[in-house]
Amino acid sequence: MKLLPKTVTTEKLKTWPMVSKRGHIPIRTCISCGKRQSKIDLLRIVLNDKGYVVRDIDMKAEGRGAYVCTDISCLERLKIGNRLKRAFKREVFMEKEF
Ligand SMILES: [Zn+2]
Repeated sequence: MKLLPKTVTTEKLKTWPMVSKRGHIPIRTCISCGKRQSKIDLLRIVLNDKGYVVRDIDMKAEGRGAYVCTDISCLERLKIGNRLKRAFKREVFMEKEF
């Protein structure tokens, strides 16, 4: 196995597609458990104009958004306490079958 030549600097490694692509995935915090994860591993939730929290399936909905793990326990935990209220800084409602 050949070692990398000394001329390959870390600067050059950063420009490799794999590395730079991974570096561009934004990290978001789950409002339920507080775990930091890449955006693509989280579920985006938004507040609609009626004050209800809905899932933003297409990641395109307008308005204030928050992120939560796709884990069922994290979703369930949203319904208790005032995590949502804190995240959205206002009173919010949740559909029964969120
Ligand atoms: Zn979580």
